[in-house]
Amino acid sequence: MKYPKIWLSPPHMSGNEIRYINKAFDSNWISTFGDNIDLFESRIESYLKESSKVVALSSGTAAIHLALILLGVGEEDEVICQSFTFCASANPIIYLKARPIFIDSEMDTWNMSPIYLEEAINHRILKGKKPKAIIVVNSYGMPAKWDEILTISKKYKIPIIEDSAQSLGSSFDGRKCGTLGDISVLSFNGNKIITTSAGGALICDKQQVKNKTIFLAAQSKEASNFYTHKEIGYNYRMSNVLAGIGLGQMEILDEYVKKRRQNNFHYKSIFEDVKGIKLLEEVSKNYFSNHWLSCILIDKKIANFDNKKLNSFLLKENIESRFLWKPLHTQPVFKRYNYFGNNESVGFFNRGLALPSGSGLTLIEKNRIADTIKRLTLES
Ligand SMILES: *Cc1c(COP(=O)(O)O)cnc(C)c1O
Repeated sequence: MKYPKIWLSPPHMSGNEIRYINKAFDSNWISTFGDNIDLFESRIESYLKESSKVVALSSGTAAIHLALILLGVGEEDEVICQSFTFCASANPIIYLKARPIFIDSEMDTWNMSPIYLEEAINHRILKGKKPKAIIVVNSYGMPAKWDEILTISKKYKIPIIEDSAQSLGSSFDGRKCGTLGDISVLSFNGNKIITTSAGGALICDKQQVKNKTIFLAAQSKEASNFYTHKEIGYNYRMSNVLAGIGLGQMEILDEYVKKRRQNNFHYKSIFEDVKGIKLLEEVSKNYFSNHWLSCILIDKKIANFDNKKLNSFLLKENIESRFLWKPLHTQPVFKRYNYFGNNESVGFFNRGLALPSGSGLTLIEKNRIADTIKRLTLES
């Protein structure tokens, strides 16, 4: 008999979502306007910090697209982007007919290498193509080396888009992820730390920028009693029904962060006496990760098995795991763009695996995962 499936990171409802959804139905705001949207935005604003301005959108990808537009990115412009990430970090650069420049990762946080970032900026400036923006990702919930990256951004006066799609609830040096970039982005896709089924948010710190974002996200309608459009708009607003799911999820965000951190702690104890496995961990007190996904790197020579073996071994026990990002600079659609680095991120892809990390993971499931991993290490 097969055990029930253990998923990598399934949606986890608090139970209160349906009350907010019912409110949308009761008021008949089945629309991209309504109280749920306003409330959801203000909940996130007070969660992050009082000066944050949040715009709820249809997806994280839409938020990155609008962030690039707000920063004036257009045809032939160059935008620096972390290579070790999901394709959605970079796709909007292409939507705008701009050019991505990919940057490799460093070994501590697996995020953008400050060294290659600065090398790339200097290289492009010498060519007369100063990059318009830098997209930094907090992969798997782990904050990037923000102290060094922010210093470089200031030195060269290039704004940062913080892709915090996976890192709501994380912080760097006491500053919450989602407030670290000039513009920051969240995702509420089904597998993220909290979900609205589909959804995202753009975060800025000026009301004027928030107003402009809402304007662009609602088809750029000018103030007029008939439809007038002076620029191209987008249909990117979040639905008031889905914002209701978000309100139910915001109630338990801190608890879910705790659960995911406990998962990470569980994996740490599993791997304590397994040789050849390195867990992605906070490198110093400055880093606080929501541990959205717990990830490992396997040294095949020492462990006697690799990530493919562990992946298929877990799958046989009906346990889902996932390979890490295949770096964007190695993807067929992005291969022809500039890249700066030493292929550390390719090493992560070759050796890494993300393990079940849902906030609803039970003790029984955690033990099943531990037993399965132990069996593989004994066999190897
Ligand atoms: C999920 C994700 C996105 C895109 O968010 P959607 O809401 O799915 O559009 C962007 N960047 C990263 C790093 C993500 O993980």
